[in-house]
This record gives sequence, structure tokens and C-alpha cells, in this order.
Amino acid sequence: MALIVQKYGGTSVGTVEKIKNVAKRVARTKEKGNDVVVVVSAMSGETNRLLGLAHQISEMPNERELDVVAATGEQVTIGLLAIALTEMGCKAKSFCGFQIPVLTDAAYVKARIRQIRGETITQALKEGYVAVVAGFQGIDDSGSITTLGRGGSDTSAVAVAAALKADVCEIYTDVDGVYTTDPNICSDARKLDKISFEEMLELASLGAKVLQIRSVEFGMKYGVRIHVRSSFNDNQGTIVTTEEEIMETAVVSGVAYSKSEAKITVVKVPDRPGIAAKIFKPLSEANIVVDVIVQNVSVTGFTDLTFTIGRTDFKKAMQITEKAAKDVGAERIVGDDKIAKVSVVGMAMRSHSGVALKLFETLAAEGINILGISTSEIKVSVLIEEKYTELAVRVLHGAFGLGNPA
Ligand code: ASP
Ligand code: MG
Repeated sequence: MALIVQKYGGTSVGTVEKIKNVAKRVARTKEKGNDVVVVVSAMSGETNRLLGLAHQISEMPNERELDVVAATGEQVTIGLLAIALTEMGCKAKSFCGFQIPVLTDAAYVKARIRQIRGETITQALKEGYVAVVAGFQGIDDSGSITTLGRGGSDTSAVAVAAALKADVCEIYTDVDGVYTTDPNICSDARKLDKISFEEMLELASLGAKVLQIRSVEFGMKYGVRIHVRSSFNDNQGTIVTTEEEIMETAVVSGVAYSKSEAKITVVKVPDRPGIAAKIFKPLSEANIVVDVIVQNVSVTGFTDLTFTIGRTDFKKAMQITEKAAKDVGAERIVGDDKIAKVSVVGMAMRSHSGVALKLFETLAAEGINILGISTSEIKVSVLIEEKYTELAVRVLHGAFGLGNPA
């Protein structure tokens, strides 16, 4: 007998029919003698609909109130799932975030979990109930409802699993697991049996959308075994776990991409100490996250400084940088919001040389120009023109031998 946390995403609870199917799976797990905690998202499209209502009233709705509205999507699904389970003769009880409670900071719309008290759930399990918990929701010190950011139910589930020291956190979704790359781009993309937390973290941050980044951070910090699998079949999915548990030694495990990038170049910046700080400080103060930064050596006392930001921050970042560039005496700025980032990720890169070289050669052979490069211990990312994204992903996936053997 194990303690199992199961999380079902919006597509798995998108209709009443689907909720009944989820209930069957939950009941089956319970009948096998396990303790089961279920964490659910809102029905697919529902969170967008709710946020849309608020935005029909105000361009910039008050974020505390926005969370009050957005959190209701999950309250509906926990109630419906508990009803479906009860109907099937399986004892079930629903819990909103505040009832557990899931304590968070007060950063509405993107709150971070501080602590989860396990007693309420443990008590329900002891009484023989399946505990059905609302994902995405929390409560801050002042008693206000908070939400954890889009896709936050993943994080709720892993955090609940950590708090209860569950044996596994199963994340049920509409795909079979974590793939070597986006199967919509590479038809021979392969499902990975296992992947390390570190690799998953890189893939999630680099554009793979299976798990919210924070959930992987939680899993890594508390050693929660995460099983990403489909709610539409019984196939074994992908286990996200510690490096030690993974025997496979492919140098590259996956290719990720993100099209939501933009870049700004500050041209002819006087090359003096303190310049970079002056340019990046106002961006940081405006909460704009800067990703790749490239600066050249200066021969003439001037340098060009290029950096990337999220595409949604592009306009704001251009305005801010325009002013900062003037202040430091740079010549001008140039922006481009049609760029993409393509990355290869793999633990074994730490001990293998030549990954970056192979990536550069592969792209060169296709005539794809590299606009910027960034690396970490276990990844190499390049910036390219957005229109080459699919081609780049395809050739890299092939070059690193990631496809299914035909
Ligand atoms: N319902 C929320 C969203 O759509 C949370 C989640 O689905 O994980 O972002
Ligand atoms: Mg999701």
C-alpha cells in the first residue's frame, strides 16, 4: 500500500464525461489499497474564460481580485470529481487551497508556496476518504486567496506530495510523457522512460510545456518522484527522478525551443566599468527578466551589447533601454522580436566535449545563422531567426540521434 498523489490537468477534466473517467481511475487506485490524494486543474479553457471576464471590465484588474476570480475554476472541478467518486461508491472529500491550508506569499497571480499543512488531508485519508484538492490555489498571511501562476496545479501536486511524503506524484496529462522534442515538429520524437530533475528543469525553462518549472524545482528540492503520463491510456509515462537513478547515457536527452523571445542590441556602448549595470538596472527594476547576454571585446573603446528578454516584455524593454542607452552615451539601439531559442539538453554533456561544435556544424549545414549563444553545464542554447525554428529542431534532433530507430 502506497500514498499516491495524482494530478489531472485541464484537458483530463474538460467535460463531465472526462471527470467520470478520472473518477474511475482514482477509484481503481484506491481499490488496490492505496491512499489517494487527487489534485485537479480547472476544466480546460476555464481559467482563460475567467481571466477574460475580468479583462472585459478592466484593462489592468486588481490582482488580488483577479485571483479570487481565477481560483473558482478549480473549486468547480474538485466538487464535481468528489461527486463523481461518491456516486461510484468511493468516499471522497474536496478541499480548496485555503481549507488545507496551502500557505503562500502575497504575490497575487504568481504566488509561491511557503508551507503546506498536511494534517487536514492526512485526517481525511485516515477516515478512508480520497482527498480531492484544488490545484493552483493558496492563501496568504492576510487570509486572501492567491494563485500560483499559469500551470500552477503541477506545483500544487508536487508540493502536496512533498508535504505528505507521498511515494509518487503522478501527473496525468494529454501526452504520454516527456519527449525528446515536440512530436508536432519531429514525428520520430521518442518518449523518455526517465529524465533527471536537472534536465527536466532545463527543458521546462527552455520551452517544453509538460510541467510548470516550479513543480520541477519542488520535486528536485524534496526528492519527489514525478511520473508524467497520459490520462487517456495506461501506458507507462516518463519518470522524473534523481540523476543516480538514471542509467541511460545519451549525451543529449532532448531538444527544446521557445518562440517567445526578443532581443535588443545597444550599439557602440562606451566600454567602461559600470555600463552594464546602468543598462540592466532599470530593466530589473521593471521586473523584466533578461536571459542571454552577449558582449564583444572592444578594440576602439566601444562595444555592442546584445541581450534577450521575453517577447511580451519587448515594447517595455525597448523604451527602458532607449533611455538607458542615451544615459550611457551609446549610439543607438536595435530590436528584433522575431527570434527563437533552440537548445539541446543532457546531463552527460558535463563529461563529453564537442556538443556545441556539433550543434554549430549542424545548423551551418542548413545555412541557419546563429545570433547568440548561451551555455550551462548541461545545455547549449542558440538564438536564431524564428522562421528557422522547426528546421533547426528537426536537424538537431536527428544529428544527436534522438529519433526512434526506423
Ligand atoms: N487552471 C490553471 C491554469 O490554467 C492552473 C493549471 O491548469 O495548472 O493555468
Ligand atoms: Mg498544465
